[in-house]
Amino acid sequence: NRANLATEHLPSMPRFRESEWDDNIGYFIKKKLRVWCRVPKGQWQLGHIQSTLGAKATVLLLDGTVVKVSTGELHPANPDILEGVDDLIQLSYLNEPSVLHNLQYRYSHDSIYSKAGPVLIAVNPFKAVQCYGKDFVTAYRKKLLNKPHVFAIADTAYNEMMRDEKNQSIIISGESGAGKTETAKVAMQYLAALGGGSGGVESEILQTSSVLEAFGNAKTSRNDNSSRFSRVVQLTHEERSYHIFYQLCAGAPSSLKDRLNLKTASVYNYLNQSDCLVIDDVDDARNFQMLMEAFDTVQISKEDQENAFEMLAAVLWLGNISFQVIDNENHVEVVADEGKAIETRDALAKFIYASLFDWLVEGINKLLALGKRCTGRSISILDIYGFESFKKNSFEQFCINYANERLQQHFNRHLFKLEQEEYESDGIDWTKVDFEDNQVCLDLVEKKPIGLISLLDEESNFPKATDLTFANKLKQHLNGNPCFKGERGGAFSIRHYAGEVLYGTSGFLEKNRDSLHSDTLQLLSSCSCRLPQLFASNMLNQFLKPASPFHHMGVSDSQKQSVGTKFKQLESSTPHFIRCIKPNNKQLPGMFENDLVLEQLRCCGVLEVVRISRSGYPTRVTHQEFARRYGFLLSEDHRACQDPLSISVAVLQQFDILPDMYQVGYTKLYFRTGQIAALEDTRKQVL
Ligand code: ADP
Ligand code: MG
Repeated sequence: NRANLATEHLPSMPRFRESEWDDNIGYFIKKKLRVWCRVPKGQWQLGHIQSTLGAKATVLLLDGTVVKVSTGELHPANPDILEGVDDLIQLSYLNEPSVLHNLQYRYSHDSIYSKAGPVLIAVNPFKAVQCYGKDFVTAYRKKLLNKPHVFAIADTAYNEMMRDEKNQSIIISGESGAGKTETAKVAMQYLAALGGGSGGVESEILQTSSVLEAFGNAKTSRNDNSSRFSRVVQLTHEERSYHIFYQLCAGAPSSLKDRLNLKTASVYNYLNQSDCLVIDDVDDARNFQMLMEAFDTVQISKEDQENAFEMLAAVLWLGNISFQVIDNENHVEVVADEGKAIETRDALAKFIYASLFDWLVEGINKLLALGKRCTGRSISILDIYGFESFKKNSFEQFCINYANERLQQHFNRHLFKLEQEEYESDGIDWTKVDFEDNQVCLDLVEKKPIGLISLLDEESNFPKATDLTFANKLKQHLNGNPCFKGERGGAFSIRHYAGEVLYGTSGFLEKNRDSLHSDTLQLLSSCSCRLPQLFASNMLNQFLKPASPFHHMGVSDSQKQSVGTKFKQLESSTPHFIRCIKPNNKQLPGMFENDLVLEQLRCCGVLEVVRISRSGYPTRVTHQEFARRYGFLLSEDHRACQDPLSISVAVLQQFDILPDMYQVGYTKLYFRTGQIAALEDTRKQVL
């Protein structure tokens, strides 16, 4: 790796932490080195320090202007030779402007992928980038290319699954519109191509995402194709419901339209309430044709397709049912009942739609399960919306943010804690690195019996409870937790790893209960059609299981697993992380807004990861493995060594591995980046 070598050949470049920077300004003046300087408008610019006086520095910017800034606003810039390195780890100076500049430089050259140690950073290009063709798949498969790419991550996951016989997960997170779903599709494309050779499941796998997208995605103000899970009955400005509704209305053949009594989208209350029925450059009718093809490819039978369309039409017509007040005497009470009627109607519509989605996922999983016969191992791709914080936040945001909090811990555990613990338990000298642990926040949510979820479940089962009594209960029990703050008017705030979020409790109890009235279920099961019966009986079965509060998290309930179980499964797999970054809020190509990007980098702890990865010993091998792999390279006079440790140490000496490039633990050897490469080369030559 050229850039890496370049770093190693710059012995005069001191690598220091931000905290040491103040002591080194003199060095930068003397050597006339460049610095990043935050100019009054808030942007970072390159310049040279002229002089310093106390905490103030005079800086000559590249454009010739001279500014006076406090030294805290200065950061060392990296040498030209490191411009646009693949992995942020390679930067000599790891400060925010340098990281931003590196990502922006790459972005402007259409290198949308970068590494931050083990994490892949993907910056949304908002345009077609030529790096996904079959030739790229082959190049990554044959390791002819080692530029950061989703393909490389998918390839690693696949190889580690085969090598370690362990389940893998590719965890893709980021804000809405950052590119998670597209990234997930790229990963699927690669894995499908790997599986494609023998069984021909490639197109089946790829078409599953077309089906899931039509039923699971909708337009929002931030993303024309956003993955959403609860928006059947309510829309806001600039939003649409799930694509499938508009596709069906626009594209169904007339015979189907007649049979289902389908009208145009504008007729339906569930669709017309947001004054947004079409998306620029999207042809719903044509997409319906593509969906039909996808349905065929993923082997959903014609009959089942028809059943699914019936359910969709039923949902649309449900939305047009209105309730009229007919009893004048008991006016007030009837009005109250009317509200309930609408609630019940909407709950039924949501239930039918959610069941339909689960049913599709189940069908698709059955089809894909055929592929499992090979190893019994799996690679899960998790596309999860990132942390959300709006002016008003409710139960939905709480669920999303809790899920992200769990993932963040998984991330921390994997990259930080495990690392440190392993060093310590193996007797390695390791200066502790501080990182934010979010266990306290998770306790706030999860602890039994007095965490937020437990309290919510308890209140939900208590008939007289209201959102306000729930809020009071939270304040009463959780005030001691430093991540919790009771707020006025039934609100509370939680200090999440990514920032503080204010939640209103309004609707929490109702949404958590989310139960259908039993007479509604009766109604469904009395239908003569197949699907409503199936949905109702699935629901009844679920009632017999212990309650699980989080139906809303977009996790399919088809296997009747609680979200907690799913997290545990996820946490027992080997994770691979992809962090998607949205470079601007306008969905425009070529626009990289520093502050927006920086905020996202900070939120997901990317900078900390780089620091740790660089200062640690990323390569680890047991004494036995090392001795077995390289022992035969030893020259005659070392052959006397018997035990793995002695053999290992002899190899290290014979190949002149520098002492600060490795450490010997009780059970393993630990190497800094790039050390094993030379040994591997020699080994290959000898073999
Ligand atoms: P998210 O799932 O994070 O909300 P999406 O994956 O739906 O975001 O991406 C939003 C939009 O950004 C896509 O519809 C597409 O236009 C664009 N986009 C994202 N990733 C890519 C990519 N790798 N190449 C081209 N366009 C992309
Ligand atoms: Mg998405």
